[in-house]
Amino acid sequence: MNEVIMVTGGAGFLGSHLCDKLVEQGRDVLCVDNFFTGTKQNIRHLLSSDRFELLRHDVTFPLYVEVRQIYNLACPASPVHYQHDPVQTTKTSVHGAINMLGLAKRLRARILQASTSEVYGDPSMHPQREEYWGNVNPIGIRSCYDEGKRCAETLFFDYHRQHRLPIKVLRIFNTYGPRMHPSDGRVVSNFIVQALRGQDITVFGDGQQTRSFCFVDDMVRAFVLMMDSSSEITGPINVGNPVEFTMLELAEKVLKKVGGKSKICFKPLPGDDPRQRQPDISRAKTSLGWSPTVTLDQGLEPTIAYFRKLLEA
Ligand code: NAD
Ligand code: UDP
Ligand code: UDP
Repeated sequence: MNEVIMVTGGAGFLGSHLCDKLVEQGRDVLCVDNFFTGTKQNIRHLLSSDRFELLRHDVTFPLYVEVRQIYNLACPASPVHYQHDPVQTTKTSVHGAINMLGLAKRLRARILQASTSEVYGDPSMHPQREEYWGNVNPIGIRSCYDEGKRCAETLFFDYHRQHRLPIKVLRIFNTYGPRMHPSDGRVVSNFIVQALRGQDITVFGDGQQTRSFCFVDDMVRAFVLMMDSSSEITGPINVGNPVEFTMLELAEKVLKKVGGKSKICFKPLPGDDPRQRQPDISRAKTSLGWSPTVTLDQGLEPTIAYFRKLLEA
């Protein structure tokens, strides 16, 4: 039997770390990516491994390969990138899910969906539990991403019910670490890059909105635990670090760690920006035995070191 594990979006931030982990575990990996936001740089070190194969492909088109498991991560994740071509973003989530589910169905392969806390929108339940159905604007500037991911979840559960497909759905909360794209506009990378360049730190709104930040190593551990969990565990399961910070607190933390002369400046809040976000991770704890171990203070160190090196190059 073919034991290849496919990672769509494998050249991206999370995908490349997942490929690292799988190759490290001695698994054979097929990385599928169209390089919209991912880069060859993220996976260059894997190209010399016999266990690693790279395929340039857009998941909105059908794909016929033979694999044992599918991690479906293909989708731009930062608001700047997913709003750049919103129609393509919805297509990637919806057509991409249909194609990858069709592939999984033909092969009877396990398939894991990288879903998101955005399915909760601007949540009125806090912290967010999986039972909460969310508060999502269907026609706003974030909708291509939020509704695309919601529809992908629907497709996963319908393939599960209708075709008995073994599915796994993880709802990922804000994750950061080395290999984030320096100009993707996400808050952690933005603040670090601004601080390193001595530019103003751009806090949107009054900076009182909150997020909970998970370090990439913790997240990748959750991916593999979920994929290898018993077949009755379908999710959705929230994964993220439940320690919540305001954006102002994050800005101050980054400034302190990077040093330099940057000042905090305030910019308008983008439309539909969620006010608060914190995962309830009880399910991940009981079903997967998973909880994050890296604090924001600890995780910021290697992330800052990564961007420092990148900017010096
Ligand atoms: P990323 O942008 O670094 O990675 C996405 C990857 O998908 C890139 O390599 C990109 O080139 C590729 N891609 C995009 N469209 C594609 C297409 N049509 N066909 C093939 N490849 C395509 O983002 P990331 O942070 O690594 O996110 C990975 C996944 O995790 C995404 O599905 C995202 O929605 C999800 N997620 C991430 C976070 C986070 O905080 N990082 C939070 C919630 C969900
Ligand atoms: N598909 C794919 N690879 C496969 C099998 C299917 O890309 O190995 C795509 C194909 O384009 C199809 C989609 O997945 O349209 C959904 O497949 P499914 O079998 O569910 O539906 P159908 O083929 O009946 O439309
Ligand atoms: N944000 C900010 N300054 C920036 C970039 C983002 O204050 O330079 C805020 C943004 O408005 C949001 C939070 O940080 O409230 C997280 O933004 P990000 O784009 O990282 O992720 P998401 O909004 O999808 O959680």
